[in-house]
Amino acid sequence: MIILVLNSGSSSVKYRLFEMGGERCLAWGGVERIGARGAILNHQRYDGHKVKLAGEIVDHQAAIEYILAILLSKNHGVIGERSEIKAVGHRVVHGGEKFTGSVLIDTEVMTQLHDCIELAPLHNPHNIKGITACRALLPDAPQVAVFDTAFHQQMPDYAYLYGLPYILYKRYGVRRYGFHGTSHRYVSDRAARLMERPIEELKLITCHLGNGCSIAAVKGGVSVDTSMGFTPTEGLLMGTRTGDLDPAALLYIMSREEIGIGEANSLINKHSGLQGISGVSNDMREIEAEAAAGNARAELALSVFCYRVKKYIGAYAAAMGGIDGVVFTGGIGENSSEVRHRTIDGLQFLGLELDPEANRSNDTGERFIDRGGPARVMVIPTNEELVIARDTVGLVNH
Ligand code: AMP
Repeated sequence: MIILVLNSGSSSVKYRLFEMGGERCLAWGGVERIGARGAILNHQRYDGHKVKLAGEIVDHQAAIEYILAILLSKNHGVIGERSEIKAVGHRVVHGGEKFTGSVLIDTEVMTQLHDCIELAPLHNPHNIKGITACRALLPDAPQVAVFDTAFHQQMPDYAYLYGLPYILYKRYGVRRYGFHGTSHRYVSDRAARLMERPIEELKLITCHLGNGCSIAAVKGGVSVDTSMGFTPTEGLLMGTRTGDLDPAALLYIMSREEIGIGEANSLINKHSGLQGISGVSNDMREIEAEAAAGNARAELALSVFCYRVKKYIGAYAAAMGGIDGVVFTGGIGENSSEVRHRTIDGLQFLGLELDPEANRSNDTGERFIDRGGPARVMVIPTNEELVIARDTVGLVNH
């Protein structure tokens, strides 16, 4: 069964086409700069063939039409007919409290997705545009929505409630939701397999460290706490986002700098984090290089970053009453031995100890990087698109 997976952002649509018999990725790529001059389509085929095309792409529907055209094209394509695409899986950022798992999209679900827009006004409208376009372009293919928030929907109320008046939760849904759920679900499943133990008996901490960063406490396969909150700004330090911040500090800055909501939003989401502290970059590779070269603020940014991951690991070990394994994933988690070293160093009291050689080796793929102590440390490359494709097949076949 051939499944198309789409991730529709504000000015981009990323895609992956899977043949689910062997869970093989046939082609992948994305359209960038939708609506701007000189949109670009990057496309890659399973056999290594790559192509980059430029054109004018006015909206999401045009982008998806372009993607379908290249998937069908004689020179670059991998399928002969649109009808070979049996279903489409869409990444949807926010499912609110309505969606605790992936769903087959119908008219009622579309209405509910619209209801969730107010919780994620920067993301959900674009996800919905992708779904609407696909419903028009592939009317016979069922569509499935897979939510970033769904995996965290079983968090207990004492973990998701803020210390705000309860009425604000009831009135506006202001609570912690958590994101990156598809990634935390995937890597916790894979960790259980790697450890050759049933997930039901495991207490795992999954660290998704990329441009956005979040960490989750996964007990018995269920997310019982996670660091992102009402929005993806809370929790760990990120490329350009603050992570945890005293809300009164923001009010103070707004007053001193005489800035409004828009600028404050931009301050905490676009100019903070690694970029804000270091003044160098939001990219961990550059931060590490500068820190190694003696740049004190890059070193400080790296220290804040790793300290916060370490602190959350301690907190989640407490939340779960122990810890059987820590998983690193995402661009930083999968590639930065320095971040993994600084994070795990000193956590021997939790049974965590890295094997320096395994940590620093250039191995790729799923692996242990510890000394085989009571709590394991693993690197597991995430694969959110495969989870979306699997959920799509599961719902379509049901
Ligand atoms: P992602 O959002 O998962 O693509 O991750 C992006 C982040 O991963 C950026 O901060 C990159 O600097 C970081 N990253 C990628 N490769 C490496 C590497 N070899 N060492 C350190 N950080 C890396």
